[in-house]
Amino acid sequence: MKSPCEIVQDLLPLYVDGAVKPETAEFVSRHVKQCGHCRAEKQTYLRNRNWRPDYGSLEEAAPSVSEGEEKFIRQIRSWKRRLALAFVGFLTLGYTAMRLLE
Ligand SMILES: [Zn+2]
Repeated sequence: MKSPCEIVQDLLPLYVDGAVKPETAEFVSRHVKQCGHCRAEKQTYLRNRNWRPDYGSLEEAAPSVSEGEEKFIRQIRSWKRRLALAFVGFLTLGYTAMRLLE
């Protein structure tokens, strides 16, 4: 079982991009408020996000990454994203089931 910190840190890139559902965003922001470590991680993501160049300049800035490597990285990213979303869905489902059984 993952700790809340691991879940939040998995979700941070999506959260920072605004790509999570409102309930998930609330879960992350609530945790970040009370957890200094995750707050620092969030700051790091925000900073990296601001530094991220657009795609045109990214190709110029990183010519060492081959097309195959880039595809691989993208696959890992989408896999991580799907896993995070599945995990959150699972949590929400479990939470709902628990509320229904009360
Ligand atoms: Zn934390």
